[in-house]
Amino acid sequence: MTVLVLGDQLCREVGPVARRPDERVLMIEATEFGRRLPYHPHKLTLVFSAMRHFRDALRADGRTVEYRQVERFADGFDDHFDGHPGDDLVAMRPVGDGATRRLRNLVGERGGTLEFVRDERFLSDPATFDEIAGAPPFRHEGFYRAMRRRTGYLMTDGEPLGGEWNYDDENRDTPPADYDPPDPPRFEPDELTRSVREWVDDAFMASEETGWPDTGAWADPSPFAWPVTREGALTALEDFVTHRLPEFGPYQDAMVAEEPTMNHALLSPALNLGLLRPGEVIERAIAAGREDDAVPINSLEGFVRQVLGWREFVRHVYRRTMPDLASANQLGADRDLPGAYWTGDTGMRCLRDAVEGVRRRGYAHHIERLMVLSNFALLYGVDPAQLNEWFHAGFVDAFHWVTTPNVIEMGSFGAGVFASKPYAASANYVDRMSDFCGDCRYDHRETTGEDACPFNALYWDFLDRNEDRLRPNGRMGLVYSHLDDKDADELAAIRERAREVRRRGREGEL
Ligand code: FAD
Repeated sequence: MTVLVLGDQLCREVGPVARRPDERVLMIEATEFGRRLPYHPHKLTLVFSAMRHFRDALRADGRTVEYRQVERFADGFDDHFDGHPGDDLVAMRPVGDGATRRLRNLVGERGGTLEFVRDERFLSDPATFDEIAGAPPFRHEGFYRAMRRRTGYLMTDGEPLGGEWNYDDENRDTPPADYDPPDPPRFEPDELTRSVREWVDDAFMASEETGWPDTGAWADPSPFAWPVTREGALTALEDFVTHRLPEFGPYQDAMVAEEPTMNHALLSPALNLGLLRPGEVIERAIAAGREDDAVPINSLEGFVRQVLGWREFVRHVYRRTMPDLASANQLGADRDLPGAYWTGDTGMRCLRDAVEGVRRRGYAHHIERLMVLSNFALLYGVDPAQLNEWFHAGFVDAFHWVTTPNVIEMGSFGAGVFASKPYAASANYVDRMSDFCGDCRYDHRETTGEDACPFNALYWDFLDRNEDRLRPNGRMGLVYSHLDDKDADELAAIRERAREVRRRGREGEL
């Protein structure tokens, strides 16, 4: 009997690793994984370094770990079954679409068996979600409230703490002009991480290996600074609840130039690798709220909603809607992603800032992801699957189960399986929620003309192009009434400007 630990299941506290302390552990580090896309070097460093640290931590505990470093995942099983013919494996159920079947086949073909047990890296199991959420279209708010009731998080006597389920309307403040958010923690790479980082450059950064165009996107990243161990991840959690949780709520939707992290948690990489579990993260935040009057309920609830609500929700939406979700494209968007997403070379300050965060750290916070990076691609008409690949390649926390519903559905309105309308907004939104527009080459108040912010013409053109699909949506009534106010000449000028913006996008002149 062997416990199989996959690369994003790096937790010792739960699951078969915890329950079978005397069994051997098998981990397979397959280089092919890193060649599927032109991944950011920090993403590859993070995953491979975290796996190797996890191996070492288990060995330090006296566990036998067979760590197979191979080119193809299948090679790891070849080696394993050469040494242990007919072995029985047990693993936590993987979250990727089709992964259980593929793994079972690989093991079965080599004469072994593979049993899957509950994935304890999440708070909700499939049966719970299916009971609460029913059939598509799925709705987040009902699921989130049911999860609050079931877990008892932020509840008193069966009622939501503070009297409200949701404090979203208190979470849209604009920070003062001189706002200086706390510095994010840096985790100095140890020798192992430094060697992985060098190996990643040697083994993966040559573009011929990936088959993707050499974008030069990852040529000059910041020094690697993500936590790669359980201890590091716990330190990151402490740092968040101590320094950033109090202002997480009010400035949750705010964007400030050259402040890529604001008061966000920076915990998604550790959560998605299994170094932290959602329950302990939520409980630590709630405890901090009890200990410290400086943590207001809107910060606490805002954070709990992301982890207990959205994270769990998208995981199940993925499970229920794949494989169709990955190629969903109900708006028929088919344009290529502008080169600026790789180069950061654009006069649009908001887009440049968000892309620069990805190029340097493999990270942008939620509002930059949603209201700049995917909003712009949505309005421009980028093929959602192509945008999904870009997010996958560029972000350190990208895993298919979480990136796909966020990009294809929330960002691109690809399927209508949980978004009730597209997250489409003009420069007006970006100006209200950020300080980007004041110092931009483009004018956020103009829609047409050489200096007009590209967001504006693209926004009206998007509504115009997708009218048949979107006008019947009751939630779009108001915006269509504004489109109706535009006369034929105005509309013609908007269409012309949108064409020009797309030409610039194609030719690297945005
Ligand atoms: P915070 O803003 O501080 O939130 C706290 C935690 O809540 C996060 O760590 C995360 O675990 C969870 N969370 C919040 N929102 C979501 C959400 N919509 N879906 C899932 N979990 C959520 N998240 C990923 O983990 N990987 C991705 O590849 C990813 N791609 C995204 C792409 C787009 C277009 C959008 C709009 C969102 C994406 N998200 C993704 C969700 C969210 O933006 C990130 O989880 C968050 O920005 C991570 O940074 P943080 O830890 O500082 O999060």
